[in-house]
Amino acid sequence: MSDLTKLTITEARDGLAAKEFSAKELADSHIRAIDAGNEALNAYILPTPEKALAMAEASDQRIARGESGPLEGIPLGIKDLFCTKGVRTTACSQILDDFKPTYESTVTQNIWDAGAVLLGKLNNDEFAMGSSNESSAFGCCVNPWRRNGDETNLVPGGSSGGSASAVAANLCLGAVGTDTGGSIRQPAAFTGIVGLKPTYGRCSRWGIVAFASSLDQAGPLAKTVEDAALLLQVMASHDPKDTTSIDTPVPDYRKGLRNGIKGLKIGIPEEYRVDGMPEDIEDLWRKGIDWMKAAGAEIQEVSLPHTKYALPAYYIVAPAEASSNLARYDGVRYGQRIPGDDLLEMYENSRAEGFGAEVKRRILIGTYVLSAGYYDAYYQKAQKIRTLIKNDFTDAFEKVDLLLTPTTPAPAFGIGEVSGDPVQMYLNDVFTVTVNMAGLPGLSVPAGLSSEGTPLGLQLIAKPLDEETLLQAGYALEEAAGPLPVPENWWNK
Ligand code: GLN
Repeated sequence: MSDLTKLTITEARDGLAAKEFSAKELADSHIRAIDAGNEALNAYILPTPEKALAMAEASDQRIARGESGPLEGIPLGIKDLFCTKGVRTTACSQILDDFKPTYESTVTQNIWDAGAVLLGKLNNDEFAMGSSNESSAFGCCVNPWRRNGDETNLVPGGSSGGSASAVAANLCLGAVGTDTGGSIRQPAAFTGIVGLKPTYGRCSRWGIVAFASSLDQAGPLAKTVEDAALLLQVMASHDPKDTTSIDTPVPDYRKGLRNGIKGLKIGIPEEYRVDGMPEDIEDLWRKGIDWMKAAGAEIQEVSLPHTKYALPAYYIVAPAEASSNLARYDGVRYGQRIPGDDLLEMYENSRAEGFGAEVKRRILIGTYVLSAGYYDAYYQKAQKIRTLIKNDFTDAFEKVDLLLTPTTPAPAFGIGEVSGDPVQMYLNDVFTVTVNMAGLPGLSVPAGLSSEGTPLGLQLIAKPLDEETLLQAGYALEEAAGPLPVPENWWNK
């Protein structure tokens, strides 16, 4: 039997349906791949092989009874930000310690209900704060890609770095991540895979460890656009337990996938041509425009005039919400408790010890911008900018159906190369945060290689709840770009 870990979800579904292999064999191949590769990649912080085999066996029984769900027997990895019942969930923070939720997040429940198999919990930046996975309490996850002729370990991007690395290295068929400012799309771009951030409210946030509640959104990381469509189909739902979840039917995302993009209007936002952008990214963007044109789309320059304020505004809004969300970690309700002489000291000790440096930085920024005297100058102003950014997109979408931009301003960097400079790290998100600020869906598609031989992604942005057109255009882009080469396997022991 050929290597089952190399399959796409779509292919694995066909193989299972045709009884070419069993769900147990499929799970087993992945468990072996994790055994061989995870030590070097550190993508899984908690592999769950026994659970995977038990779930796969149950899947095989359902397949035998003709009761297959849409993801029946498909082995997936889950970002450690999702609460999984009885399975340790830490958000990759020491403060959550050995927390085992007594409940399952809605998104992961949807996935299990569809028959998927849990391979384990995946690494991420602590509380999803970061763009490199370096802030994880479990150590940095490693990108399976390396620069040409160079053995430096590169970051997989963040915060869903473990999800991206695991998919790119064939340690799962697909993964679930979250995106608050780019955390699905940026790591997808850095590792040569597909990443989709749905419209805010399309997937329930219930049971996801909260970072910035008005921006957080769950989404799939996958090997192909079609796989991403399949995953989103199952992940998306209306959930009365999340008041921001949207009560509108989930369309069939795969239906129009191959319809092409003839006549679609695609906007190119001039403000995304930032100073100092590497030439290979400029080139790739130009190529993307040509591909879309060749496929029959109409290209139009558009303006999103408030783009340059998005990043600073995001780094006010996100930390503000984070400082409030993270107040619950006090040493009483969850995880780690460090004793003190009195209650206050216990709080202080627990938080001082439990949170990492980046999380503390966000809490400090957040409490500062929310404090009396600064609230108007920072938080309120950032909220106003948010409205202006949203209006920019609304205006652009009067003229075009989609926008095309690079996903990141640079390719994957080496571990430790940027981590000493938080502002440099934040600049990674310059093309992705706008989408979260406006609540829009965005998709990163692997589109080529940098001059260093590492992957680059192009981003498509659609109108709210227009994931269908987004995926349709993503499919066309993927077809035009062709598959990337496969990174050489250096990680197996
Ligand atoms: N890199 C961004 C941040 O650190 C986005 C993170 C995310 O999307 N979760 O805030």
